[in-house]
Amino acid sequence: MKKLDYDITVIGSGLSSYACLKYLILNKAHIGNKICVIAGDININKNHINSEITTYLKNSHRVIYDANNINEIDTEYLNYSYRSNKNIISIKSIGGLGKYWGGGFFPKLVLGDKNDIDSLILNNFDYVCNKSNSNLIKGKNKTAYAKEIECCFMRSSYLNKIGNYEILNPGKEIRILCKKNNIDFIINTSVNKLSYIQSNKYISIVCYDKSVIESGLIFLGAGVIGTPEILFRSNILKKSRITINDHLLYRIPILRPLGFIKYFYRYLTNRRGKVNHSISSLKQAFKLNISGRTLFLGLYTLDISRIKVNLFLELLCKMEVIIFSQIYVGSEKGSYSCDCSIDLKNNAKLTNYKYLSFNEWIHILLFFIKSLMIPIPYKFRLPFGSSYHLHGSLTNKIGAIKNFQQDDQRIIIIDSSVLKEIGPEPTSYRIIKNTISIVSKSMRFNSQ
Ligand SMILES: Cc1cc2nc3c(=O)[nH]c(=O)nc-3n(C[C@H](O)[C@H](O)[C@H](O)COP(=O)(O)OP(=O)(O)OC[C@H]3O[C@@H](n4cnc5c(N)ncnc54)[C@H](O)[C@@H]3O)c2cc1C
Repeated sequence: MKKLDYDITVIGSGLSSYACLKYLILNKAHIGNKICVIAGDININKNHINSEITTYLKNSHRVIYDANNINEIDTEYLNYSYRSNKNIISIKSIGGLGKYWGGGFFPKLVLGDKNDIDSLILNNFDYVCNKSNSNLIKGKNKTAYAKEIECCFMRSSYLNKIGNYEILNPGKEIRILCKKNNIDFIINTSVNKLSYIQSNKYISIVCYDKSVIESGLIFLGAGVIGTPEILFRSNILKKSRITINDHLLYRIPILRPLGFIKYFYRYLTNRRGKVNHSISSLKQAFKLNISGRTLFLGLYTLDISRIKVNLFLELLCKMEVIIFSQIYVGSEKGSYSCDCSIDLKNNAKLTNYKYLSFNEWIHILLFFIKSLMIPIPYKFRLPFGSSYHLHGSLTNKIGAIKNFQQDDQRIIIIDSSVLKEIGPEPTSYRIIKNTISIVSKSMRFNSQ
């Protein structure tokens, strides 16, 4: 059995772990402290999944299915989610969910009075913002309740082989940070449980490969399901029931006759090949205020390099004649929540939800029509988990976890499981901000 000692261990290699590590390095915590990251296992799933579950995966998580990384998915949780008619997914590998994510990043929606953490993020994290020439709706939108939002995307710190930045892959960036700063990046293993004894200087991290890592301080960033699982197996979390929140999500395919005209204009003027490189398929976004609720309405082109479609559809997608819209519903009328069980004994059940009202639908339809877009009738509302903006699975358990550690807080949860509030927009900016705020407080706590 291997035994290793560290001052600080970051568990997980998703977005929150990346934010945590970057912040530690910016504050030079790696100088004088021995740090490691336990990144997760690339091969957690040794079992084959049956054809029913494969079809479910294909229909509900197309990007992950097409990446052919079934070995990285927690298949027990996938089965549970299928059986509960939900779309919750748990990835246990390097990069986490962020490895597949769209990178959408919306600081301007969150910035009220800019504080030190906002400045730190905006000055130190790499991101790019959409140029207006990639807009699908040109000029001002004509509806009073819709306001355009600038779309930014977290990006890689390096250029790829063809000289472009890519959407951030937190796992890759953590690996780069570790290499540059002499931090151990531990792969091919994941954490089974933590053994915490108050009088011991070190907490034992027991991994599935039987290795034990002793650490003075732990930043736990194993995600909205991974973190509660570790705490439950460690007997720090006593009950297996957790409540997870998500965005209520509607996906609407859209026909855009203008796409034809633009394509033929390009054809006639011989500018067919002139396509702007764009880092994400999200082209434009609007915040809609309707009946006391805020909606995030994003317009996306179909990324045919990631999703396999037939040739005819491929052509329509290339011409931007068929695009799609995603609408994330804000939580002003209650959070969209689901009761789940970590031991998978009880099926996941929705607890609280208010779907879009007739009035909200009318305003959304008007928005599309005024923008010369035709919504295609389809199954619009997606099951719980589909937005991937899962958060808050431990927000009502933080007190109990702190009490367990009494006045010696050395297991610090940093990921989306402790994110209390999200607006209507994708969550990345809030996850990063929350993580940095938690890490900065705990480092002060520990240096006292
Ligand atoms: C297809 C897709 C598109 C998305 N688009 C966007 C977007 O545009 N904008 C946005 O804001 N968000 C988006 N998201 C959501 C975003 O990716 C997540 O909100 C974010 O990555 C959550 O980060 P996290 O660090 O909390 O958790 P995770 O990403 O889940 O990371 C958890 C990490 O912990 C590791 N782990 C788990 N269990 C263990 C264990 N037992 N031992 C060791 N390690 C463990 C995992 O391997 C992983 O590395 C998208 C997600 C997907 C899948």
